Amino acid sequence: MTAPTPRPGIMDIRPYVGGESAIEGVSRIMKLSSNEGALGPSPKAVAALKAMAGEIHRYPDGGATALRKALAARWGIDAERIVCGAGSDELLGILCRAYAGPGDEVLYSAHGFLMYAIAAKACGATPVTAPETDLHADVDNLLKAVTPKTRIVFLANPNNPTGTYLPAEEVKRLRKGLRDDILLVIDAAYAEFVSKNDYSAGVELVEAGNNTVMCRTFSKIYALGGLRLGWAYCPADIAGVLNRVRNPFNVGSAALEAGLAALEDGPYMELCRSHNDYWLPWMLSEIKGLGLPVTPSVCNFVLIQFPLTEGRNAQAADAFLRAKGIITRAMGGYGLPDWLRITIGSGEENQAVIQALAEFTARWK
Ligand code: PMP
Repeated sequence: MTAPTPRPGIMDIRPYVGGESAIEGVSRIMKLSSNEGALGPSPKAVAALKAMAGEIHRYPDGGATALRKALAARWGIDAERIVCGAGSDELLGILCRAYAGPGDEVLYSAHGFLMYAIAAKACGATPVTAPETDLHADVDNLLKAVTPKTRIVFLANPNNPTGTYLPAEEVKRLRKGLRDDILLVIDAAYAEFVSKNDYSAGVELVEAGNNTVMCRTFSKIYALGGLRLGWAYCPADIAGVLNRVRNPFNVGSAALEAGLAALEDGPYMELCRSHNDYWLPWMLSEIKGLGLPVTPSVCNFVLIQFPLTEGRNAQAADAFLRAKGIITRAMGGYGLPDWLRITIGSGEENQAVIQALAEFTARWK
């Protein structure tokens, strides 16, 4: 019997595998594999979630009106040009579906976020990567990789898994160097963690033209990954396109309510930011102190390099940490076989990671 066959390219997609959340036989784990906020969500978001439980028989507001208004007020932007999604993953996928298809190219940096390849292939387009320089996106290389077929450029700023960022001026240079008919998507999932003066999430580029979109998420600093909530800030025409393509009720009411409460709890967000501001440099300096190279991350995770030698490599480090109940993420799937990514956790978790890494590297002496 012949079976239905998917469109060409679909079977080339390597399914996305999220960070693990359990270790068999270990009850107390430290999950530091998915860059989830170290302190968990705002208690006000959790309370809002509980309070709306009696309403889940109702469809959500398909236009996410209250949340878009609150986002507009919080960031000083136009609510009409915000589109919410079931995580920013959904928005990246919708952007590809709307603006690229078979024969088109979708361009991004070599170690860019894995979803870009999935979203490109799922809509029949061809993913193209440009080389990085020292694990930083490289504007010249991206511009060199543009062809007449390029339709979308994805730039994660800062990037996962490298943790590195491009200063606002460089992103502007990228936009200037691209043809006007190429959509630039600035994926700023980790924007709230960045404390560099020369960084911008990209709002001004969205507002300066009709061809740049910024994507944001509630999964990282707001720690609401389980609810799936993201948003895109777009030129008006692009918002109109996304609203045609997205599902009618793409964001559930639980996500809308909890997201709104999280957004309104400014002090808690600041607490999460200060936590990262303290622990990120601490982790970077402790890791360097152990003699391990680490990228200059500005996010809520660190990316550490291990030798390729058996017993000392990133897989061995991952296994060593796992035996202590610490779940991290070896980056082989991102084409970084010698690197391990570890999320910034609570103070206790960060100290446990450094202690374990010290034990791991001490075995080499
Ligand atoms: N962009 C980047 C760079 C990410 O790291 C992630 C999460 N891993 C996402 C987008 C997607 O986030 P979400 O779908 O949870 O909003």
